[in-house]
Amino acid sequence: MTSDRPQRLQPDQQGIARAAAILRDGGLVAFPTETVYGLGADARNDRAVASVFAAKGRPDFNPLIVHVPDWQAAQALCRFNDTADRLADAFWPGALTLVLPLRAGAGLSRLVTAGLETLAIRVPDHPLAQALLRASGLPIAAPSANRSGRISPTTAAHVVSSLGGRIDAVLDGGPCPVGLESTIVGCSDAPVLLRAGGLPVEAIEACLGRPLVLPSGEAGQPSSPGQLESHYAPSGTLRLNADAAGPGEVLLGFGHVVGATLNLSPAGDLLEAAARLFDCLHQLDAMGADRIAVSPVPERGLGRAINDRLRRAAAPRP
Ligand code: AMP
Ligand code: MG
Repeated sequence: MTSDRPQRLQPDQQGIARAAAILRDGGLVAFPTETVYGLGADARNDRAVASVFAAKGRPDFNPLIVHVPDWQAAQALCRFNDTADRLADAFWPGALTLVLPLRAGAGLSRLVTAGLETLAIRVPDHPLAQALLRASGLPIAAPSANRSGRISPTTAAHVVSSLGGRIDAVLDGGPCPVGLESTIVGCSDAPVLLRAGGLPVEAIEACLGRPLVLPSGEAGQPSSPGQLESHYAPSGTLRLNADAAGPGEVLLGFGHVVGATLNLSPAGDLLEAAARLFDCLHQLDAMGADRIAVSPVPERGLGRAINDRLRRAAAPRP
């Protein structure tokens, strides 16, 4: 069988330059980090980020980790506090992701953070990841490079067998040295272990001189991405599958509908709708919309994740 997708790029200057060019054009490139292979996209490009979710076949939008080449680049995107400074100093570059308040005007796609005001950020240590970050000059959003629900890939062959023709290229750097996802620590308040991973919790606790808070009880239990989904919902109420706006409602349209105040995608393109979803919800908030009717979005492909998010936003709140 012959297929030119994904391009297999060698770990040399030419391969790195090609990978960087694909990312700058809004394409998807899987690349090695010390933890697992990441599925990289330009974190500032809504459509590129939406296509990450499409390629993975995710049924929901959970926020992605953004990779940057150094601490300085991280500081341009997030606000650090003493705890975060200490952890970054001790463990970056490395298998530690910090969740920190996002800076206003950081310029990232809202889809990367799933509309949250916090950002998960990491400085990877792998020389190819570093080279790609520097060659592209981009913050790179990268979840693990596997289909949703499958095992994280630790070789380029794993990536190809899982994502095949759904991505543009894979930069082949051989097996990943750590082979486990990064450890995620939330640093907005008291440091919280959000996911156990490649950097041992004991090392983090020794560095901070205090235990990490465990969010849902058990040590080492990955926090359900689903828990995060409720963090962002517009302040107005949503009525889904609406054919038209009723009295006192504004319409968030999808496809060819008349009278929409905002439209996720007038052309009915699910990728465009995913790319615009969080931005539209924020815009409706900024307008002070308190009753929002939403056009039906088909329950296929990215439509499933869009509907998941809309249903969460529409659910009764405490
Ligand atoms: P992956 O990209 O597959 O390694 O998964 C990223 C993990 O980071 C998911 O479990 C997310 O829920 C978590 N995450 C990303 N952004 C945030 C955030 N802003 N707050 C809390 N957790 C986050
Ligand atoms: Mg994963």
